[in-house]
Amino acid sequence: MDADVLIIGSGAGGGTFARALADSGLRILVLERGDYLTREKANWNAEAVFHEHRYHTDEDWRDAGGKPFRPVTGYHVGGNTKLYGAAVLRRRVSDFRRRRYPEGETPDWPISYEDLRPYYDQAETWYHCHGQTGLDPCEPPRAEYPCPPFAHEPYLAEVAAALGAHGLHPFPLPLAIHRNEAEPRLAPCIRCDTCDGFPCLLHAKGDAEVCGIAPALAAPRVTLLTGIRVRRLLTGPDGRRVDAVEADTPSGPRSYRARLVVLAAGAVNSAALLLASRQPAWPQGLANAHGLAGRHYMCHRNSVCVAVDPRRRNPTVFQKTIGINDFYEDSGDADFPYALGHVQNLGKLTPEILEAQKSLWPEELARLVAHHSLDWWLTTEDLPDANNRVQVDDDGAIRLAYRPNNVDTHERLLAKWKTILRELGYPLVHSQTMGIEAVAHQAGTLRFGHDPASSVLDVNCRAHGVDNLYVVDASFMPSIAAVNPSLTVMANALRVADHVRARFAVGLSP
Ligand SMILES: Cc1cc2nc3c(=O)[nH]c(=O)nc-3n(C[C@H](O)[C@H](O)[C@H](O)COP(=O)(O)OP(=O)(O)OC[C@H]3O[C@@H](n4cnc5c(N)ncnc54)[C@H](O)[C@@H]3O)c2cc1C
Repeated sequence: MDADVLIIGSGAGGGTFARALADSGLRILVLERGDYLTREKANWNAEAVFHEHRYHTDEDWRDAGGKPFRPVTGYHVGGNTKLYGAAVLRRRVSDFRRRRYPEGETPDWPISYEDLRPYYDQAETWYHCHGQTGLDPCEPPRAEYPCPPFAHEPYLAEVAAALGAHGLHPFPLPLAIHRNEAEPRLAPCIRCDTCDGFPCLLHAKGDAEVCGIAPALAAPRVTLLTGIRVRRLLTGPDGRRVDAVEADTPSGPRSYRARLVVLAAGAVNSAALLLASRQPAWPQGLANAHGLAGRHYMCHRNSVCVAVDPRRRNPTVFQKTIGINDFYEDSGDADFPYALGHVQNLGKLTPEILEAQKSLWPEELARLVAHHSLDWWLTTEDLPDANNRVQVDDDGAIRLAYRPNNVDTHERLLAKWKTILRELGYPLVHSQTMGIEAVAHQAGTLRFGHDPASSVLDVNCRAHGVDNLYVVDASFMPSIAAVNPSLTVMANALRVADHVRARFAVGLSP
């Protein structure tokens, strides 16, 4: 045996899970396909990050028709949290229940907010979460945040006041960034404009390397191996237990063995791994008796919305401080009795960021826009459609079929937000909705549930039919809600870790 617990992937799910079990005395081995993300000047270079895609994978995936595209995702110790915007919101109480939309509905979760609540508390502490209770109109019941909110810069304070005067309820966006707002000289975060989408050169971002893997590795029986790409999971003849994890390593193919295997490779890669693990006991892929693995892929309907007032400069450096949930559970429009989604500030667009996206903005325009823009990120829930799915082509490449849904709901949110911004005095409002390559919020491909005929994982995120296989990344979610997914991935990993710890305590069969 190489370990008691073998974790595949070191991102939000895998990194948090490793830390959660680090003090258990169990022998833990984390296999990570990527390496440590190099700390270098280019971390904060927009051209390197957004144009050269220095920290994104160079592999191509294919869409439903076989057309290649380059997914905006990275393979590093810490997973995609190395690049994330660190906006960390809890799901709302209503997000755990069925929700109707004009095009369909989301399913009930097999657990409630209260089941996850203590784990949200723990995750927020580990990831240095800053925020303020009592202002978000659909905030779930909770205690105070571990750290006080990030203060608005003066321009943003005015925007928040104007939104309030407009009848809305702006709240400080919860952020997982290590900073002491009361004594900024003592804390690593310097409130710069290279946060969203950039790696943090200062390691101030609460990412899964800094807040998950590094503390886990401080324990004596935890090991991380990098550059290890897992290819297949093999069971014995009865298919009931994973016996071997096959991987490509820098020194050639190798097989690892552990008492328990925890898959945390991200929603697309975890599904792809199970599908690639076809074997006599599992002819459709491991844990895929009902053909569900890879299905119900979700990624949010997301748009960037840029409001420009050419008469007024926006000098904000750290812009990501306002959240809006006034339309989260109800549009407020009598003719549309549905939820619309969530709005939050985007990291400040700079001339460098806009210029790096050369195809979008000519240089002159980029400068004008960046100096005068107020930038937002709008998110609407997409529905779990079984035809939106991950598959693995015969040559091993990932195929991602995704037809956007709930589009009208998102368009309504966009239209509403643009109207508000114009009323606030921004004559020019431009938006752009993300395409298939925007896989940042990937989720749902191995959903959890009670019934093996309609879910891949059981309520504890153990694969139906495979006794020693768990999944703790974003793939477990039966619906994605309209808040950013990471905190829920982290909290769920902690919940599953508690269950696994209890299983070992009563003597998991070897
Ligand atoms: C630019 C960007 C901005 C984002 N902003 C936010 C935000 O503000 N708030 C938020 O909540 N979320 C945000 N996200 C999303 C967030 O990063 C993900 O939801 C989260 O990281 C998902 O966690 P995970 O454990 O499912 O996967 P990941 O964190 O991606 O971890 C998966 C890990 O598995 C490894 N791996 C993959 N395949 C294999 C294999 N075959 N063998 C071994 N290892 C493997 C990967 O290298 C990676 O380390 C953002 C993402 C991006 C890309």
